[in-house]
Amino acid sequence: MAEQSAHQKYEFKRKLEGLRDKKGRGTELISLYIPPDKQISDVTSQLRNEHGQAANIKSKLTKTNVQGALESLLSRLRYLDKTPENGIVYFTGAVDVGANKTNMETTIVEPPEMIQTYRYHCDSSFYLQPLEDMLRDKKTYGLLVLDRREATVGLLTGKHIESFRHLTSNVPGKQRKGGQSAHRFQQLRLIAIHDFYKRIGNAASDVFMTVDQNDFEGVLIGGPSPTKEEFESGHFFHHEIEKKIIGLFDAAYTDESGLPELVNAAGDRLADLDLMVEKNMMQRFFGELVSDSGKATYGAEAVKANLDVGAVDVLLLSEDLRAEKDIIKCESCDYETSVTREYRPSEKIEPPGNCPKCGSTLRVVEKVDVVDELSGMCDQMGTEVSFISTDFEEGAQLMNAFGGIAAILRYSTGI
Ligand code: ZN
Repeated sequence: MAEQSAHQKYEFKRKLEGLRDKKGRGTELISLYIPPDKQISDVTSQLRNEHGQAANIKSKLTKTNVQGALESLLSRLRYLDKTPENGIVYFTGAVDVGANKTNMETTIVEPPEMIQTYRYHCDSSFYLQPLEDMLRDKKTYGLLVLDRREATVGLLTGKHIESFRHLTSNVPGKQRKGGQSAHRFQQLRLIAIHDFYKRIGNAASDVFMTVDQNDFEGVLIGGPSPTKEEFESGHFFHHEIEKKIIGLFDAAYTDESGLPELVNAAGDRLADLDLMVEKNMMQRFFGELVSDSGKATYGAEAVKANLDVGAVDVLLLSEDLRAEKDIIKCESCDYETSVTREYRPSEKIEPPGNCPKCGSTLRVVEKVDVVDELSGMCDQMGTEVSFISTDFEEGAQLMNAFGGIAAILRYSTGI
């Protein structure tokens, strides 16, 4: 999804989250995936057919809801002049809104990637798998860290590092036992090393071959010198994997903790990866924070104040941040306040209560999405916004330790 901006991707993710939360009372939520080359007349004739069959549904309420959803879809399709480039998806149905009520809702999605397969799906929840697959960053790197005693095989997929295999050797130490000839000992040792490299090559090739090779970008090898060079020159990988070696990098650890170390060491070679761009951004933020330059700030209020005076160089927002600000006003007097809270679509929100000044009823007059508000301010000022995932350590820290909102400033404002 390189052609998509970070903000579009965030919006798409939010839309899917909203859809995932919606449930029907029965099997009555319709998901309709239309690829760009599908004849709309074929779709409408199938929907008419489904409408006829729905007459057989036993529950009167479900029957009414399914037929209502189909009618709504049919009328929408009548107004569809041309299927968008990547196709179009309709989610329609009577969504449970609590208190024994349902609401007929439709969400239309123009996906970021092309829909391959036509699908009509009727269930108690919406069918989202094909869209969720589009959201996943599938670019994958094979990771191997090794020395003569230990090796770990893993994968870097998108921004996520995972360990798959851990191997240990029985290569004898450099001290030979008494009575053994030095030559014999050396020979046995080399055989044991060779065997271990062979096992590593096989295990790593097995793991790397499970990846769809279209998404497989290459292999990074880490470890001390000269072990990794020795391993590479022996061609122990499957020949298809062999062709995809990107390079050798120094890494001190050869257990699981060597995998992120390897990715960091290969940083320059992976500079275009979203992960590295985000990592560098967070490192800049932490650098400013510890140097006490006054050019790092965090929290919604402080960041907003700095945006207001135009001091923000880069706004850092956690991809996991879901926050909403309620603007609350008194019915009778001029009292006004706001509450910022984590946003959950299914959450039941208590009414704001009574005015502390005059005792009249308080009302929520406006709901503002915090991410939209802050990124909107940046758009107006031409300030860079960086969405940071929580799949790596520094990114998780942004969410957990800094509330998901931080900024690198152009100069210290003291705010
Ligand atoms: Zn009041």
